[in-house]
Amino acid sequence: MAQLSNDSFAFGGPLMSIEQAAALVGERVQPVAETQTVALAEADGRVLAEEVVAGLDLPPFANSAVDGYAVRFADLAPDGESRLALVGRIAAGSDAAGVATEGVAVRVFTGAPMPAGADTVFMQEDVTEEDGFVRLPSGLKPGANARPAGEDIARGEIAFAAGQRLRPQDLALLAGLGRTSVLVCRKPRVAIFSTGDELAEPGQPLPAAGIYDANRAALRAMVQRAGAEVVDLGILRDEPQSLAARLAEAAQDSDLILTSGGVSTGEEDHVKAAVESAGSLVFWRIGIKPGRPVAMGVIGGTPFIGLPGNPVAVFVTFAFVARAVIARLSGTQYKPPVPLPVRLGFPYRKKEGRREYVRVSLAPGADGIIVASKHPQDGAGVMTSLTRTDGLVELAEELTKIEEGRIVPFLAYDLLTA
Ligand code: AMP
Ligand code: MG
Repeated sequence: MAQLSNDSFAFGGPLMSIEQAAALVGERVQPVAETQTVALAEADGRVLAEEVVAGLDLPPFANSAVDGYAVRFADLAPDGESRLALVGRIAAGSDAAGVATEGVAVRVFTGAPMPAGADTVFMQEDVTEEDGFVRLPSGLKPGANARPAGEDIARGEIAFAAGQRLRPQDLALLAGLGRTSVLVCRKPRVAIFSTGDELAEPGQPLPAAGIYDANRAALRAMVQRAGAEVVDLGILRDEPQSLAARLAEAAQDSDLILTSGGVSTGEEDHVKAAVESAGSLVFWRIGIKPGRPVAMGVIGGTPFIGLPGNPVAVFVTFAFVARAVIARLSGTQYKPPVPLPVRLGFPYRKKEGRREYVRVSLAPGADGIIVASKHPQDGAGVMTSLTRTDGLVELAEELTKIEEGRIVPFLAYDLLTA
């Protein structure tokens, strides 16, 4: 289980930026220590626990990048066309040993090893074959269309540092290096709860004044996409004793506890009191909208994050805060998503000192620049405001009046749930 020092999250005071919160987490939360070996076929999304050094040159031998004719550049006429005897033929996978190259051209195919001495390949489209000779145009540079051994990565070079979260292209390189398995960090186990007397489980009858629990469905998916294992602990009622007991129990078997709801300051918001009795609690006043205060704490050495209750606030605070914690627990470095510039299609006013995320849809403008249109409803409980839009425009702390047409940073939902 991840251990936290006692003064973890000991930070109250003024509004904190997401970056400050993420940095604090980076200092305080310890990555999961256990490692395991997994087959490459199971390694997508896992975090490397080893440094991977190339055990061979890639490509392992010099080879042709095209279908064509391999020559020694020195044998070509200094200016004008060359005419060389065509001797030999090497296909991909064939051995080039013993193929003579001096003063001749050799038929080669893409991926075929370069015969010793040959350094340059003419593409077949540029070459005329006649009576056992080839006519080669001028103008090719030495080494053209040939791929030297180790051009991709050389034996002994570092392919990946520990902490790399493996993506499909990383798996290709590992397989290219002949690896069949890798040492990875154990996935952190993230316990999730919803809280609220009004919540019903989808599939059950909906009581009067009840709503179906929407947050856990999103959290399960977001936790998995963040590379962690979900421990789904269901719905907790607004009852301080049972809340505290369930949280303490969850702490024994997980690396992080995530709840939604019950963390604002109303009389019926009991999560705060429950965490205080089961462990220790700190409120983070993170300066973002949507996203009311996020509760952070430690229960039996396990970090706790209490997300707000409204589904849009859950989405945003998970994306920016919980993902940073999960990345850290997973043994990888949290990389904040990189926004892309879009044109604001509406004027906007906001409070200074907090960052706002506005739900928008994108469409190309007349000049081809992408324009962001604001979703008409911006309540933190409106789930269709997330399902019917493309992503979030990020409006910085210092901005108050933003004029229509301004270029602003945009974050696609895909980036926030990766
Ligand atoms: P709370 O922070 O507990 O006061 O919740 C704020 C709002 O979010 C209330 O309208 C709750 O009914 C709603 N809410 C809390 N949890 C969930 C959930 N799991 N699914 C859908 N709505 C929720
Ligand atoms: Mg509640």
